[in-house]
Amino acid sequence: MSFSSEVKKELCSIEHSSDCCQRAEAYGILYYGRSFGKEEISLTTDYDYVAERYIDAIKCFTTYKPDTTISKSGKITVSVENAGSRLEIINELGYTGNERTMRLLTTNIENECCFGSFIRGVFLACGIITDPKKEYHLEFDVTFRSKSRDLADMFEDFPAIPKESHRNGVNLVYFKDSSHIEDILTVMGAQMSVMELIGEKILKDVRNNVNRKVNCDSANLRKTALAAANQTSAIEKLKSQGKFDDLPSDLKELAQLRIDNPEMTLAELGASLSKPLSRSGVSHRLKKLTEMIK
Ligand SMILES: [Zn+2]
Repeated sequence: MSFSSEVKKELCSIEHSSDCCQRAEAYGILYYGRSFGKEEISLTTDYDYVAERYIDAIKCFTTYKPDTTISKSGKITVSVENAGSRLEIINELGYTGNERTMRLLTTNIENECCFGSFIRGVFLACGIITDPKKEYHLEFDVTFRSKSRDLADMFEDFPAIPKESHRNGVNLVYFKDSSHIEDILTVMGAQMSVMELIGEKILKDVRNNVNRKVNCDSANLRKTALAAANQTSAIEKLKSQGKFDDLPSDLKELAQLRIDNPEMTLAELGASLSKPLSRSGVSHRLKKLTEMIK
């Protein structure tokens, strides 16, 4: 089951809290369905629960029972085949049917409480959300530019401002920010999906932190190994130049210890000396050794 279908299933299980909100959701799913006008009112979906919710939306405005067909690939299309019933629906929603373009009518989203229900309807009709395991992305695919503009404008007072784009003749209104997507899911009432998204986000953060730590540790190891290699080759050079035996005894002891233990850290070298020395003391002496060959 895709994340989109999970979210839609959850949204379809939400009971309407009031008539105004039910009407707002119905308007959202009808207006942003495949077609909404005098000539055609229809929705195509992959999910039977979305088709049922669309039929419920139609019931808000007419007693006519819409037609349902299923294609060979399993796509469900619900349509209002009766012209009189189509007119009844659009009249109920404040249109005459003679408008050149049917713009969004905010009068159908009566009260403040209705905004989330309206967005839920729109999402059921044309929304897609990507699995948060892959990426954060929520979009509305809208056929007409005027309708996508109107939808984007609806988010004017909302904390999440959408971006707009086109793809294959479809107008997109979309969100990429995980916290914005959480806001949209929350306002639509998809509490379970919000929890899932937040859970994924925490997992991702933990993984990133672990990776960062591993990278950091291996970078330090590389640095230590490189320094040890430099010191060893410097000491070997001192030997080949015959200077090794003339070294003061404390330096000679450290030099031999370094050659014998290339994997040791400075602190470990210091602790292994006959007179233990701090890390910075060891560093200072090794510096002296490497400078001698210059
Ligand atoms: Zn309401």
